[in-house]
Amino acid sequence: MGADSILPQQTPAMDVHIFFLPFLSPGHMIPMVDLACVCAARGAKATVVTTPGNFPLIRPILDLTNSGSSLPDPVRLLSLPFLSPDSGLPDGFENLLAFPNPDVTPEMSAAIELLQRPFVDLIRQHRPDCVISDLHFPWARDVLGVPRIVFHGTGCFSQIVLGTLSLLGTQKVASHGDEPFAVPGLPHNVELTCSRLPRFLITPDEALIRMGEAYGKSDGAVMNSFYYLEPDYADLMKQWGGMKVWLVGPVSVYNRDIKHRAVRGGVASVGYDDILNWLDGKKAGSVIYVCFGSLGRFTVAQLREIALGLENSEHPFIWVMRYDGDLSEFLPAGFGERKKGMVINGWAPQLAILSHGSVGGFVTHCGWNSLLEGASAGVPMITWPLFAEQFINEKLIVHVLRIGVAIGSDKCCNYAEERTAVAAEEVRKAVGELMGGGEEAVGRRERAKEIGEKAKRAVEEGGSSYDEVGSLIEHLRSLKMN
Ligand code: UDP
Repeated sequence: MGADSILPQQTPAMDVHIFFLPFLSPGHMIPMVDLACVCAARGAKATVVTTPGNFPLIRPILDLTNSGSSLPDPVRLLSLPFLSPDSGLPDGFENLLAFPNPDVTPEMSAAIELLQRPFVDLIRQHRPDCVISDLHFPWARDVLGVPRIVFHGTGCFSQIVLGTLSLLGTQKVASHGDEPFAVPGLPHNVELTCSRLPRFLITPDEALIRMGEAYGKSDGAVMNSFYYLEPDYADLMKQWGGMKVWLVGPVSVYNRDIKHRAVRGGVASVGYDDILNWLDGKKAGSVIYVCFGSLGRFTVAQLREIALGLENSEHPFIWVMRYDGDLSEFLPAGFGERKKGMVINGWAPQLAILSHGSVGGFVTHCGWNSLLEGASAGVPMITWPLFAEQFINEKLIVHVLRIGVAIGSDKCCNYAEERTAVAAEEVRKAVGELMGGGEEAVGRRERAKEIGEKAKRAVEEGGSSYDEVGSLIEHLRSLKMN
């Protein structure tokens, strides 16, 4: 992301030095690195602080950004030692990506706690003017008096829904059992069931309470979202708790250059050229892209259903999955020879794929970044939420924005074995519904396209998020002066 490719003009930021401390998971780290690059392009001095095991995820995009760009100051990368021998974690387990499911294990929590001391040392040594840190690092608040802004890994809609439900009380929420209930007081009718809510909402643990307390005492919050996408909820978010909130996204859109899109989040398992050649040979809008984020895993039985459903659909596909065994355990015989789709086992250049004109639909787990990336690419989505706040994001896609078809996933759960299975026929049907003709499908596509245009507009000069980045940096500058 060269500065030229980010923004037409830079705003001098009077040497505001920002430390960016992302949570150790791709879905948090990738957008925060984007944000560091955006702030650097607007004249701030940006330093990303993370553990050495996470450098391979970040280095490719930072090297590209810093080389050949006219950034006033390169984005720096500082190392926080990860004390794995003390934590009992195997080597390389410095990111949730390495774990078999999205649980933050007690060992990982302990290792994250241990980052505090070296982080304080770095603050002492480099004296930044502000820390923008993930919600998951409550101890990053008020380190040696340095202001802390919280980075939200998700959007305003889910925050407002979760906040409303917490205020309602866990007992009241749990009393609904499996019966659908409407979340009270929202601008839209949003119906949920308890089984679709994350466990942390029903039984909040100490870590969550601590996070919430530190959040409340922070100096503001940055959301990776844009006003047009969720205006009612953005307004509510800005009113909530009297805290300053800036909507600066979608930060992925700042990656205008295809080279940046191809290496964002690390080096892909299949070369982008091969993917590009394959996509180039397909009709505009004909390909369905299937990816469940960085942490979505499935049982072999479920993978078999997905494979069958995709093969039986009438559309070419790119299917990204993460499976450690032999793919023949679930791919139907002759799957490869029939060449109906491309299978990527590992890491895909998602942003690059989604921006290709042949892609006309996205099967997504509704992780916030994937939602934003699909919406920014202007493609409608099949929603297949798995865990965390993804079922709430599904509501935004399907019921509020009306750009998606729900596949029928109904249990929010970190463990693949415990989720309700989705049959091959459901996959085939949903792909047909999303990618086919008919009034509803056309309407969905048109709305998605319009949102994509608004997303791009939001980060251009004069756009809402462009202005919010300026206002954020201005605010940090005034904090520094005071
Ligand atoms: N991603 C990617 N390639 C992959 C899988 C994921 O580039 O093969 C990126 C994706 O573009 C997004 C992030 O990883 O930016 C995943 O974040 P999201 O919030 O969608 O889901 P999570 O992984 O946190 O569940």
